[in-house]
Amino acid sequence: MLRQIELNIKPNKINDEDYIYRLVRSTLQLKKEDNVAIRKVRKSLDARRGTPKFKLRIDAYINEDLPKINPVMSLSSKVNRNRRVVIVGAGPAGYFAALKLIQLGLKPVVLERGKDVRERRRDLKSIQQKGLVHPDSNYCFGEGGAGTYSDGKLYTRSQKRGNIQEILQILVDHGAKEDIMIDAHPHIGSNKLPHIVTAIRETIEEYGGEVIFNTKIVDFKTKNQRIVSVIDHEGKPYEAEAFIFATGHSARGIYELLSSKNIRLEAKPFALGVRIEHPQSLIDEIQYNQSKREENLPAASYSLKTQVRDCGVFSFCMCPGGLVVPAATAPGEIVVNGMSLSRRDSPYANSGFVTSVSLDDVKQLGFTGDLMNIDFQKMVEQQMFNAGDGSQKAPASNMISFVQGKLGKKMNASSYIPGLFEAPLHELLPKFVYERISVGMKKIGEKVKGFYTEEANVIGVESRTSAPVRIPRDKETLMHEDLEAMFPCGEGAGFAGGILSACMDGQRVAKAVAAYLS
Ligand SMILES: Cc1cc2nc3c(=O)[nH]c(=O)nc-3n(C[C@H](O)[C@H](O)[C@H](O)COP(=O)(O)OP(=O)(O)OC[C@H]3O[C@@H](n4cnc5c(N)ncnc54)[C@H](O)[C@@H]3O)c2cc1C
Repeated sequence: MLRQIELNIKPNKINDEDYIYRLVRSTLQLKKEDNVAIRKVRKSLDARRGTPKFKLRIDAYINEDLPKINPVMSLSSKVNRNRRVVIVGAGPAGYFAALKLIQLGLKPVVLERGKDVRERRRDLKSIQQKGLVHPDSNYCFGEGGAGTYSDGKLYTRSQKRGNIQEILQILVDHGAKEDIMIDAHPHIGSNKLPHIVTAIRETIEEYGGEVIFNTKIVDFKTKNQRIVSVIDHEGKPYEAEAFIFATGHSARGIYELLSSKNIRLEAKPFALGVRIEHPQSLIDEIQYNQSKREENLPAASYSLKTQVRDCGVFSFCMCPGGLVVPAATAPGEIVVNGMSLSRRDSPYANSGFVTSVSLDDVKQLGFTGDLMNIDFQKMVEQQMFNAGDGSQKAPASNMISFVQGKLGKKMNASSYIPGLFEAPLHELLPKFVYERISVGMKKIGEKVKGFYTEEANVIGVESRTSAPVRIPRDKETLMHEDLEAMFPCGEGAGFAGGILSACMDGQRVAKAVAAYLS
């Protein structure tokens, strides 16, 4: 017999399996002779009222064995000689599209401008330590895309767009901890993701798919309004029966290429602002009422939002116990983002703090055309860079000085390895962005005591929150209406925002490709 129960468990007992087993038995009032097999199905943390406790949902099988879970990856046969589909971009969308194509009997050929995970690490070191940004190998470009050295939070608001449990199971099959299957806010961490990404590539190759690195797509050929090949930076063509473009939100060259060939693109609203960094102990104190965290409690996080003059101002991609990282994709720009290791044990808590940017906001600054948001993003990122010394040092200021619109208060220590320099961010940011986020910070500080503090820094600029452009596609076929056999996919196409939704979109598009080819 299956009984489903929810237990409240104190943090110091959450890893005590004997205790949990006994608690299940007593909650179900089992007799001595009853056997029970338990499966945890959901773990969440309730930190309300200042006394954090875990909620654990459990399926208890009384006098029954646990039902078997079938592996998701039923890659039945090899696809070496099957019909070819080219995927441009080896990010989460590209790799999950490749796995699904194999399941559907098609051969994926993944073309990636950057290097494999291991080689890519050297270029990240070079950004961090020497301030040199490699245009094809950085925090956004290279094997696994922006997902590899990301924070690895695995939650999404687009629950309906795919099977989240299936994606999580595939990640577990490739080395992620089983906990992600039950955690309410699953997280992998930047130190674990590279191994998982490598294991996924090995599966793709084992089943007959191909992954080709150092191959930047710069052009494509068409015949009768149908794409027939893509061309790499050395002029080499790659032919296939269908093409998935999963190039992410920072592949400006791809947007420019499509625009130059009159393939329809649409500027879309996105968000821009700064990254805030607090001491983690302060966030723990705000959220848990304890500055020294109790055993087994994770570094506390937050998700905050408010409205300023009818515009959304919100925290984004919060990284408890994390690091602020340089996420520029070309020399001459400064972009920051956040990540954390699986243990989330750095003494800092960082988060994007952004406002939504509408098309009108950008037009009012004089920008026009389908690429206007990119021109706007570039302008802000270059302004941040030009205020500095030509390195990847990021402009920053004390949070109080930032809101007051003047320099002065001493900056705090930071996790950002290239270093910070004090700068008038209130002047460097576009006026409407500064006005909204500075008011938003104060407003939130009134509700969340301790958030608005001189113990925090504000760092510029958080500009790659999502794609500023959409590559439109037909709702049914998922193909671009102007170009047969071209399938825009993932975050860069404007159909995902984050790792999970990019993986799900990759799977959806792979199914659409199979339907098209059948
Ligand atoms: C530091 C950081 C932290 C993040 N943290 C999180 C998080 O915790 N949780 C979360 O959900 N999301 C997070 N994100 C966002 C997440 O990584 C992206 O949403 C996700 O990776 C998008 O997947 P994608 O496959 O659509 O695109 P991408 O991951 O951007 O992959 C696109 C790939 O295409 C390649 N490419 C681009 N142009 C070309 C070309 N011309 N030719 C060949 N290849 C090309 C790129 O090199 C790249 O590998 C983070 C991002 C960063 C940078």
